[in-house]
Parts: sequence; structure tokens; C-alpha cells
Amino acid sequence: MADLDGWIWMDGELVPWRDAQVHVLTHTLHYGMGVFEGIRAYNTDRGPAIFRLPEHVRRLFDSAKILGMSLPWSQDEVIEACRAAVRENGLESGYIRPMAFYGAESMGLRADNLQTHLIVAAWSWGSYMGEENMERGIRVRTSSFTRHHVNIAMCRAKANGQYINSMMALQEAVACGYDEALLLDPEGFVAEGSGENFFLIRDGVIHTPELHSALAGVTRDAIMTLAREAGYEVRERRITRDEVYVCDEAFFTGTAAEVTPIRELDGRVIGEGRRGPITTDIQSRFFALVEGRADAHHEWLTPVA
Ligand code: PMP
Repeated sequence: MADLDGWIWMDGELVPWRDAQVHVLTHTLHYGMGVFEGIRAYNTDRGPAIFRLPEHVRRLFDSAKILGMSLPWSQDEVIEACRAAVRENGLESGYIRPMAFYGAESMGLRADNLQTHLIVAAWSWGSYMGEENMERGIRVRTSSFTRHHVNIAMCRAKANGQYINSMMALQEAVACGYDEALLLDPEGFVAEGSGENFFLIRDGVIHTPELHSALAGVTRDAIMTLAREAGYEVRERRITRDEVYVCDEAFFTGTAAEVTPIRELDGRVIGEGRRGPITTDIQSRFFALVEGRADAHHEWLTPVA
């Protein structure tokens, strides 16, 4: 990843990709206190457009506030940095990664005399779970790792250190031959995937866990809106693991995962064992929207040019 042509926006300037370096004593590298975003740009008829950019930037600022990090930029400046990162790298579509972190100005947990730095990188990135899995669906395993308790990690923050838990869960699932992990909250209810929100469908009704241990996904919000506009009933509530075993359909949502069907949990086949009809409908509505082919929600697409 480091050895690429292109530009990275770093503290207000576009620097050559290979020169976007930090010192080994970078504070966030040691303690994990940083915040980041994952955003996608899609190729539309009107050129590359970024999906729900202001909402992602707002979440970045919310995450920083939760962690007590001050960001010396405005949300508008970060929005412009994201647009520049896509434009200057000549991308038609791709993934955008803003990250705010503490520098190498000092060490120690007091975090005295530290500066907050911000980078925005953007690169070309296809389907996170593989193109064929967008239709076939993925195999998921309930994780032995519990998702964060709300007073241990601040779950509204998309913070770097939280992803230790995500990575351990995903690595365990992959080592056991599965594609993704389903994490339960400290009380045993379904929380989310390692980097995705979770939905299930039973008797035509769409259900998703409340936001306690799960991240407030921007895609989750878009899917709930689209589903309700399409006439589906959507309920946010506590969901148990065995409800997932007996649901008709299930899927994950996220910037990287988009809308990924789930065909199996813990060796139990979900529904017909492939992408179900409601998942197919929701997925196609989602792609029509992000690719600028839908008549609604043009406000969710920010052109890059
Ligand atoms: N949960 C976690 C833990 C995530 O990392 C992500 C990806 N940001 C999501 C859910 C989905 O959020 P979004 O739709 O905003 O990408």
C-alpha cells in the first residue's frame, strides 16, 4: 500500500503517496487513540460522486469529540480534502480513508503537548467480500470475542483501537473457515460484524439491532431509509443468536461490505442458503442509488469535480 503512485492529503497539503510518512514514536501507533472513517466514491453518469460524505465527516468529528481529541479543521475543510483525494488520484470510484491521529510530539497517556494530524488517502477498491459473494452470500460464525461494552469502549466513536476486537474476531472466523464473524454484545445479544451492521428478515419484516455496542453505520441508516420508503417495515430491537438461525434472510451493511447477503451462521443454513428476495431488492435499490441511477436522494451524492 505504501509503494503507490498518487497523492495523500496530509495536514492541509497533497503530498506524494510514498512521502506520506510518520515517525515511529507517533502516539496513536502506541496507544491506538485515533479516529477514522471509511467512505466510498462511486462512478455515476455525472462523474465520480462520494456517498454521504457530510454524514461520514460529521461522524469523524463526533468520534474525535467522544475521545476528547480536538481537530484543527472545519468539517467543510475535511469534505474538500476527501473530494481532492479522489480527484487528484484520478479515481472513478474507490475507498476514502480520513484518519486523525496524535503525532510524535510527546509520549505518555496524559497526551500533553500533542498535535492532532489528519490524513485523507483514497484508492481503488472493489467488493470487500468478493463479487460472487454479493450474490451467493457469505458464511458467518458467531465470535468467541464479545463486542464492546458501552462503558469500556465508546461505541459511537469509530476509533482506531476498537479494531483490535474486530480483527481478532475476523481472524478467528477466517481461521475456522468462515468469511466473517458475528459479534454479540456483553449481554449476549447480536451486535454487528467485524466491520458491518447486521440485518435479518423474518416474515417480510426487517430487523436490526439497536445501537448500543454497534457502530452507527451510515449505510445502516441509508438501508433503513430506503427499505421504509420501499414499504418494508423496519424494526430496531434486541436480537438473539437463535433468531438468526431461524430467520428467512440476513445481510450485512457497511461502506466496505455495501449490502452483503449472509447464507449461513454457525453451520445453520439461512433461508434457502442464498441471497433472498428482499435482500436482492434492498441490494439493487442501494446500488441504483449510490451509482446515481435512482431518482431519489441525490443529496446523498457529492460530486468530486
Ligand atoms: N460496524 C463497524 C464496526 C464498522 O467498522 C463499520 C464500517 N465503518 C460499520 C459497522 C458500518 O458503518 P458504515 O455503514 O458507516 O460504513
